[in-house]
Amino acid sequence: MRAEALIDLAALRGNIAALRERVGSAGVMSVVKADAYGHGAIPCARAALAAGASWLGTATPEEALALRAAGIGPDQAPVLCWLWTPGGPWREAVAADLDITVSGLWALPHVLDAVRAVGRPARVQLKADTGLGRNGAQPHDWPELVAAARAAEAEGLIKVTGVWSHFACADEPGHPSVTAQLDAYRSALEIAEAAGLRPEVRHIANSPATLTLPESHFDLVRTGLAQYGLSPVPEVGSPADFGLRPVMSLVARVAQVKRVPRGHGVSYGLTYTTPGETTLALVPLGYADGIPRHASSTGPVWLADKWRTVAGRVAMDQFVVDLGGDAVEVGDQVVVFGPGDRGEPTAEDWARAAGTISYEIVTRIGARVPRRYLEDGG
Ligand SMILES: *Cc1c(COP(=O)(O)O)cnc(C)c1O
Repeated sequence: MRAEALIDLAALRGNIAALRERVGSAGVMSVVKADAYGHGAIPCARAALAAGASWLGTATPEEALALRAAGIGPDQAPVLCWLWTPGGPWREAVAADLDITVSGLWALPHVLDAVRAVGRPARVQLKADTGLGRNGAQPHDWPELVAAARAAEAEGLIKVTGVWSHFACADEPGHPSVTAQLDAYRSALEIAEAAGLRPEVRHIANSPATLTLPESHFDLVRTGLAQYGLSPVPEVGSPADFGLRPVMSLVARVAQVKRVPRGHGVSYGLTYTTPGETTLALVPLGYADGIPRHASSTGPVWLADKWRTVAGRVAMDQFVVDLGGDAVEVGDQVVVFGPGDRGEPTAEDWARAAGTISYEIVTRIGARVPRRYLEDGG
C-alpha cells in the first residue's frame, strides 16, 4: 500500500453527536457534497444518519441521486441539493423524492414539467440571496418567486418544504454582514409566510454559524466541515475546543531512502539544496493526490517521531523529506496529517503551510488514494 486516507467513522459519529447537542431542538443536515469533502459520501452519510443527523445535503443533483442509488431512501432521510442548471436532471430528482432548491424563477417551469412527466408532486425549497451574492433570489425577485411557488403548491404540483439562505462571513464572527443577512433572512421568511407558505424547515447556518451563532440555528443547521472534525474558525477555536475530532488521516509508506552529499539539489527546480551530507526520504504522494504544490518547502509531515518539512517542490506523484542525521527505512510510515494528538500535523497545519483553508486540503485528496474506513477509531 503506497498511501491511504484513514476515515474514522467513530469520530464522525461523535462529531454529529456534539453538533446535535449544540443545536438543541434544531436538526442537523449532514453535508456530503464533493464526496463528503473527500471522506467518501456513502459511508459518511450512513454514519451521520446513524448518529442522528436528520437530513443529507449535496451541491449537485447527481450527488444526491447517488445517495438514493446506494439505498438511502426517502424513508431514511430527506436529501436537499442546491446547484442546478437547466439540464437538470429534473425528472430523476422528482422520481427520487429529492428536495429541489429553486433559486430563481427560471427553475420552476423545469420542476413543473418534471412533475407532470413523473406523475407525482415535487419537494421544493426556495433559496433567498440575503447578501452572499452567489446563488438564491434577490430581494426584488423574492415576492414573485414566492407567489409562483405558492400557486404551484395550491395546484398540488409541489410542496414547499423549506426556505433557506447561506452566509458570506459566518467564519468572521462579528462581521456586520452576519446580522444584516440574518435580518434579510427573517424578512424573506415573513414574505414567504404572508404568501401562505408553511415550510417544514427554515435554515441558514453552515458550520461556522452553527458553532458561533446560536440565533442562526432556526429549524436545521447544514454542517459540512465541522462534522469532519475540522474547525471552520481556527482563530476562534480548535476542533477540540468545539468537541470535534478530525475524521481523516493521510498516511503513506516511504518509497526510497538514500544518502546524498552536501550541496545536492532536491526535486524540480532544485529549489532545495542539502546543507550537509544527509539522508533523503521519498514520500509517494504529490499534487495529483491533493498535496498542494503551494506547500513546497513548507508542508509538514510526521516521520520517525519528528515533525519534518517538505524539501523542495511537491511534484505530481512524490515529494522529498530531508531527514538530517535520522534513520528511516523504506516502508516506514509517514503521517501527512491526522488528528494531531500524537504530534503529527493536522489538515489545518497544511492549510496554513499552503495559504488555504482546511476545507480545501481534505476535499482535494485525490481518487488515487484509497479510503479505509475505521468503525472504532482503531
Ligand atoms: C458547503 C455548504 C454548506 C456546508 O458548509 P460548512 O461550512 O462546511 O459547514 C452549507 N450550505 C451550503 C449551501 C453549502 O454549499
